[in-house]
Amino acid sequence: MSKVTIVGAGLAGSEAAYLAASLGVDVDLYEMKKVRKSPAHHSDGFAELVCSNSLRAASTENAIGLLKEELRQLGSLIMEAADRSAVPAGGALAVDREEFSSYITGKITSHPRISVFHEEMEKIPSDGIVIIATGPLTDGALYDSIREMTGCDDLHFFDAAAPIVSLESIDMTKAFRQSRYGKGGDDYINCPMNRDEYIAFREALVTAERAEVKDFDREIVFEGCMPIETMASRGEDTMRFGPLKPVGLVDPRTGEEPYACLQLRQDDRAGTMYNLVGFQTRLKWPEQKRVFGMIPGLEYAEYLRYGVMHRNTYINSPQLLTPHYEMRKRHGLFFAGQMTGVEGYIESTASGFVAGYYAAMEALGVSDVIEPSQVTVIGSMANYVADSRLKSFVPMNANFGLVAPYPAKFKGKDKKKQKNQAIASRALEAVGEAASKINGMRCSDGV
Ligand SMILES: Cc1cc2nc3c(=O)[nH]c(=O)nc-3n(C[C@H](O)[C@H](O)[C@H](O)COP(=O)(O)OP(=O)(O)OC[C@H]3O[C@@H](n4cnc5c(N)ncnc54)[C@H](O)[C@@H]3O)c2cc1C
Repeated sequence: MSKVTIVGAGLAGSEAAYLAASLGVDVDLYEMKKVRKSPAHHSDGFAELVCSNSLRAASTENAIGLLKEELRQLGSLIMEAADRSAVPAGGALAVDREEFSSYITGKITSHPRISVFHEEMEKIPSDGIVIIATGPLTDGALYDSIREMTGCDDLHFFDAAAPIVSLESIDMTKAFRQSRYGKGGDDYINCPMNRDEYIAFREALVTAERAEVKDFDREIVFEGCMPIETMASRGEDTMRFGPLKPVGLVDPRTGEEPYACLQLRQDDRAGTMYNLVGFQTRLKWPEQKRVFGMIPGLEYAEYLRYGVMHRNTYINSPQLLTPHYEMRKRHGLFFAGQMTGVEGYIESTASGFVAGYYAAMEALGVSDVIEPSQVTVIGSMANYVADSRLKSFVPMNANFGLVAPYPAKFKGKDKKKQKNQAIASRALEAVGEAASKINGMRCSDGV
């Protein structure tokens, strides 16, 4: 039986490694963080969340919530860790990032079938079954090797991360605890702004000094992770319809909806760290302190992590990959995670699960495999990235637009809700069948 070599122990690589090993395949897992870290990675642990601690919506009426439930049924290690390390976040699933990563690291390092190598892989291995899951910040020699192998000249674009501040430094005489529309109790801290404060803040934001973008000569911004200063420059009210939207919030001091409102979300289980929701930025660090300090409640904020801006690397998957995330031109070479053009923590995890499954089946010599289903979110994403008909390929979050349309029509005020519920039931039924086959193949003792 062949082994599987996996490069990168991020969300995708960790999921793939654990699945393949639990299906009875030996795995060599290469992770470089102990010798070199990307600018966004800070710890030595596996599956590190590089930005927000939120894994987004929990409800299955939402595509990302449904994807999480699909992964749970399939026995995902990442979802097991997420559920164990959850912190309060209203209608979302957010985690304590340290607990989350250390649970995954423990499970992988103690698995008898997984050998971990703390090394930087500089070249795509020339043979064998290989999964490249080195993430959106892949660089150096491996980046060149991927470029050579895929023939993609242009592999990157830009992304940005939000700052984290300490709870004790937030002025709670100005900020207040509340969740939008009262969903989830007092999970969020809100910093309300009146019109004058908002206008002054926006003015400072659009004119603030930004970090120099050294390595690249052009900037393409992914709409789902747009720097706050870019959003501010798009129009006076753009932020009030985005991260500063006040709807569903009532300032207890005025009894009214604020003109604009920043929300801060708990980032660790202890509740000492809060992130500025939607405030990904590439302002220079002293500028972040000055400009974000204009928001009522954040005047004296202590920054536990400043927002940063990084590259985002992905291959031209529709021209290169099959729906198994396998190279069409090199049997046994898989890609997984954000670098395939799926966008987001859970989406990266899902692609790691799929690539890990097919790599393991190849190693075991099993040809009767389950194909990615268009009625599930996990399967529809695999089909999207491998769709050779796509003219322009952009990274994509999980969404119901990728899933096969539901045949029946729904009526009434809540027809969207009914439709999404029907899509979710259909997906979970299909996933249930796949899960019983996959889970039935798992080795209970890991060997
Ligand atoms: C700055 C930034 C902020 C983001 N914020 C969010 C967010 O808030 N929410 C969200 O859902 N998504 C976010 N994303 C997008 C994406 O979901 C994450 O990047 C996610 O971590 C991708 O998972 P991955 O497994 O593909 O890669 P990663 O989690 O980055 O894992 C890749 C791993 O490979 C290792 N590695 C790299 N090169 C080598 C090598 N040559 N040899 C050995 N090991 C190597 C790395 O050290 C790393 O551990 C963000 C991305 C970036 C860049």
